[in-house]
Amino acid sequence: MAFVITDPCIGTKDAACVDVCPVDCIHPRKDEPEFATSTMLYIHPDECIDCGACVPACPVAAIYDRPDSTPASQKALIQANAVYRANDADAMARAEALVKAHVAGHADLMGIAPAERAAAHAK
Ligand code: SF4
Ligand code: SF4
Repeated sequence: MAFVITDPCIGTKDAACVDVCPVDCIHPRKDEPEFATSTMLYIHPDECIDCGACVPACPVAAIYDRPDSTPASQKALIQANAVYRANDADAMARAEALVKAHVAGHADLMGIAPAERAAAHAK
C-alpha cells in the first residue's frame, strides 16, 4: 500500500495529482471515459512509488502518505483505492460502491466543503 486518496477529492476531482504523478498510477484520468462518472480518483497501491509529488498538488489535502496515517473515518477509502483498476469495470464498480457507502455513512463530513473536509478528519 502506498499513498491514499480520501474524501476531499469528492466534489473536487480536478486531477491536479494526475498531472504531477510520474508513473501514471492515479485514475481515472480526464482522458479516460470513467472520469465523468467516477466519484473520486484512486491511487493504484502497487504502482505508486511513494514519491510524494501528488500531496502538495492537491488543493484540498485529500492525499495521505500511507494507510497508517489515514484517519479512521477514511478507512473504507483505503480499500477503494486498493480495489480500483483502470479498464476493469467490475473493479471500478466495487471501488465506487465502497465510496458511495462511505458517503452515505458520513453525512457529517459530506456536509463540509471539500476544502475544509480534511481538517475535519482529525476531529
Ligand atoms: S506518491 Fe508519487 S507515485 Fe504515488 S500517486 Fe503520488 S505522485 Fe504518484
Ligand atoms: S488533486 Fe486532490 S482533489 Fe484533485 S483529483 Fe487529485 S486527489 Fe482529487
